[in-house]
Amino acid sequence: MNSETTTDGAPRLTVFGCRAGMPEPGWPSSGYLVQLDGGAILLDCGPGVAPKAAAISDDLSAIFISHLHVDHCLDLLTLGKSLVHRRDGRPADLGARLPLYLPAGGTAIFRRFNGLFPLGTEGPGPHPTDRVFTDVFEVREYVPGEPVTVGTATVLPVPMRHRLPCCGFRVSSNGHTLAYSADTGLTPAFDPLAGDADLLLVEATLASPGMLDHGHLSASEAGQVAARHGVRRVILTHWADTDPAWLADQAERAAQHFPGRLELAVPDHTFHL
Ligand SMILES: [Zn+2]
Ligand SMILES: [Zn+2]
Repeated sequence: MNSETTTDGAPRLTVFGCRAGMPEPGWPSSGYLVQLDGGAILLDCGPGVAPKAAAISDDLSAIFISHLHVDHCLDLLTLGKSLVHRRDGRPADLGARLPLYLPAGGTAIFRRFNGLFPLGTEGPGPHPTDRVFTDVFEVREYVPGEPVTVGTATVLPVPMRHRLPCCGFRVSSNGHTLAYSADTGLTPAFDPLAGDADLLLVEATLASPGMLDHGHLSASEAGQVAARHGVRRVILTHWADTDPAWLADQAERAAQHFPGRLELAVPDHTFHL
């Protein structure tokens, strides 16, 4: 992946992973890198995303987690431990910690998670890898509806409709807007999330509406949402199946409702806004 920052101010989106639920070989779970002027924001960090994020960690400005389903956050511990090792085991400079924005309650959960897997009992105190959510990440809990400034960008967390509390993110930078639905069913929240966005990265988990009551969209619903809210370009994601024929059918179902530019998320592909 080319991790250079943009030159014209337009963000770029690189898919690190886009599998719904647990990963498959070559298909990590959710993780999306938004590259901006002077930095990059990682949206979600599911299983398989950590090595890709660690490889470009010098460019990372912040991480945002949509919700606490494991396919969106389980690799945070792996990533944090990877970043400790990249510093040769030295404790991170506290001034250089990586901002990590979690849903409410996430801080205590991840610190406990980290504590369940200590390196060992020898030595004078906790090893740096046992203090990832204190020393490596600067952990904050975002408030739904309250925008967060990251460099040149503004990230607005928007509460969506899902089985657990879940926020999509509207990322605005240099006059460009990218919206990420995270996991959601149909909801009026698409208006503040995606209204008039340049690009909507939207889940299309289901083959047909109402197959599951977890709060997910079918591909046709994803297409309808995009058309209704005036977005200019759509990328479908959060695949329940990675068979090429199934994916092609999802694109076709969405395209019946959205006449604009519509593409499919694929690991390691970069989309230029
Ligand atoms: Zn998910
Ligand atoms: Zn979920």
